[in-house]
Amino acid sequence: MSPPQSNRTYDLGFARWVRDNVDGGDRMNMCMQCGVCSGSCPVGDQMDNGPRKTFMMIRAGMKEAVLTSDTIWNCVSCYNCVVRCPRQVPVTYILHELCTLAVEEGYVNPKDVENVRFAKAFWWSAQKYGKTDERLVTAKFYFSGGIGDGIKKGMAQKDTAMAMIKKGRLHLGMPYKVKNRGGLQKILAKAKEIEAAKQGA
Ligand code: SF4
Ligand code: SF4
Repeated sequence: MSPPQSNRTYDLGFARWVRDNVDGGDRMNMCMQCGVCSGSCPVGDQMDNGPRKTFMMIRAGMKEAVLTSDTIWNCVSCYNCVVRCPRQVPVTYILHELCTLAVEEGYVNPKDVENVRFAKAFWWSAQKYGKTDERLVTAKFYFSGGIGDGIKKGMAQKDTAMAMIKKGRLHLGMPYKVKNRGGLQKILAKAKEIEAAKQGA
């Protein structure tokens, strides 16, 4: 179900919708704005608002400001905030669901979000090889924004890459992979089947 449509900057209908429809949204009422989540966030300085302020904005009904914010996309799912929140607010889940909502509502094109492109590159390697090969993930991510962007990003990091190779931190052989990749594919296919059954239920 989609949230209510409104042109108002402050629309409490949005706050109520998040409370009732976002997984963990009902716990937001318990947030006491202590700021432990934002203070514990390792990437807080990469976020425009951070989780504490985001929850206040949601409660104020600031739909557009929340769904166009980079806070929801820059969360790296470390769960520090969830572990430390004194009110057991599932911060991470809420932020992630807001990302989905931002896409569904047309506020964001996922192709424009670097974190989405990185997550896709990471998942591609994980499901193909059963491991994440840092070279392939990096290359896939770099070129996900186009050839020019990939070359630019690669050139910017070439000194770091060379230093890592010299120190043995970046290997040059075949990709890392699990032994039984056929078994891995069966597990993934089964997981997809279970997920599809859940969605259809
Ligand atoms: S740590 Fe929990 S209670 Fe404190 S501001 Fe963050 S979400 Fe709210
Ligand atoms: S889970 Fe996300 S919001 Fe929470 S501390 Fe980690 S990066 Fe920050």
